[in-house]
Amino acid sequence: MFKATIITVSICLTFISMPQQAAEQNTITVFGGLPLPSTDKQIDSNKINLPDMGDSSGTLISPAEEKEYGEAFFRSLHSQILINQDAEIQSYIQATGEKLVANSDAPSHPFHFFVVMENDINAFAGPGGYVGVNAGLILLTEVESELASVMGHEIGHVTQRHLFRAAEASGRLSIPSAAATLAAILLGTQSPAMGQAAIMAIQAGNVQFQIDFTRENEEEADRVGMQILALSKYDPRSMPIFFERLQQSTRFYGQAIPEFLRTHPVTASRISDTRGRAETYPYKQYADSLAYLLTKAKIRVMTSINLEDTSKYFQANLNQGTIEQRTVARYGLGLIAIKTEKYKEAETIFQELTRQYPEQSQYVAALARTALDSRNYKNAVSRYQKLIEQFPDNDPIKIEYINALLKAGKTEQAKDILLSLNAKTKLLPIYWQSLAQVYSNMNQPAESHRFLAEYYYAMGETYNAILQIRLAQESKGLNFQLSSILSERLSFFINQQQEAGTNH
Ligand SMILES: [Zn+2]
Repeated sequence: MFKATIITVSICLTFISMPQQAAEQNTITVFGGLPLPSTDKQIDSNKINLPDMGDSSGTLISPAEEKEYGEAFFRSLHSQILINQDAEIQSYIQATGEKLVANSDAPSHPFHFFVVMENDINAFAGPGGYVGVNAGLILLTEVESELASVMGHEIGHVTQRHLFRAAEASGRLSIPSAAATLAAILLGTQSPAMGQAAIMAIQAGNVQFQIDFTRENEEEADRVGMQILALSKYDPRSMPIFFERLQQSTRFYGQAIPEFLRTHPVTASRISDTRGRAETYPYKQYADSLAYLLTKAKIRVMTSINLEDTSKYFQANLNQGTIEQRTVARYGLGLIAIKTEKYKEAETIFQELTRQYPEQSQYVAALARTALDSRNYKNAVSRYQKLIEQFPDNDPIKIEYINALLKAGKTEQAKDILLSLNAKTKLLPIYWQSLAQVYSNMNQPAESHRFLAEYYYAMGETYNAILQIRLAQESKGLNFQLSSILSERLSFFINQQQEAGTNH
């Protein structure tokens, strides 16, 4: 897509956005293993080069290289699938992941958790601790411990370095091209077209990529994952229960079971092994966090392909379950009201919820969001302002506040808050997009294009990043300092693109 002529950036903080690739069918790829075309067995092991992932101790790939590899992997994913941009959802998944990592044997290993807004049931771990969980999987979980069990399992793959043990690259693979290939392969399990792209990438690069989570790896990740789960005060029994549900859901597919499941089944022995291990823990009751319930409701609305059905689902829950579950159903109905532009209805629901639960940030944020989406910017700004005072450390709310300020024309204020965001939030593409909008509003096109370039780069669209730098170079208002930043970034992007071996 050629977007280079865009000068005014429209902030796409679409609260409720549909997945671009609505799943035609729910393919089930359990826990991110990879079916691989074993085309050419003639690998010259002397040629194995960067990134050499054959060493389990991690000495051959430095932490800096792993970081670079992980970032490139994440950018590639952005260009191929819809990664969640909703700051509240992001904040929940990262906090849950960090809670688990704190109880792993690598508590200081950097991890980046994110939600993929696809209905397929999948979760996967990439280099650099990048762990993705699909919306479809989150919605399949019935309790929070089930989600935690999947995340614990993925954390297990990372801390046991399975990816690095199992992946082999022959020939000279640069980090960007290894990352792009890995991303394509991981996603190939979801879409036949992507699988073909991965095969082509492999052939074009004269590369044999061997990633295969063996039965031993799966069992080890289960074992490590369950330990993490129990230490983090989640229910170990949720792991076998969720595996069983996964296995049951595969029965719907018959002959159409993806290749992945044929080679990497959730076997009866895996289920019975995890069940046996879970039984060694004392039985207890575990409550879901409200954040889990609210996040699931939001994801349900955002990825819904039939809002009428989703509305019926929440309606049914209004009169059953715990008070908390009923409250969450009201929240879900409020989100549907926003999405269907029934702002009065949304306003009523969120006014009531905030009156009842003034300390619950999600309800107050939804009320502010109602004002924002109904273009009542003055009201939106003052609601967000109050929210920031109430929850000063809540970056998801700040992101929304910035959006409201930009729409209300309060550019300077938006800029100040952008600069105050924490380092993790600054990794989100939305950060660069907002910054580009700030400079566009301030009529500084060169700066605006410069930050748009960073946005495209973060989205894995290096080609568009290069175009934006060139537009910046042709813009008015260039000074010496900016010029040198631009030429430095241009050669960096060009270099990255050449190493990735792609033209766009
Ligand atoms: Zn696994």
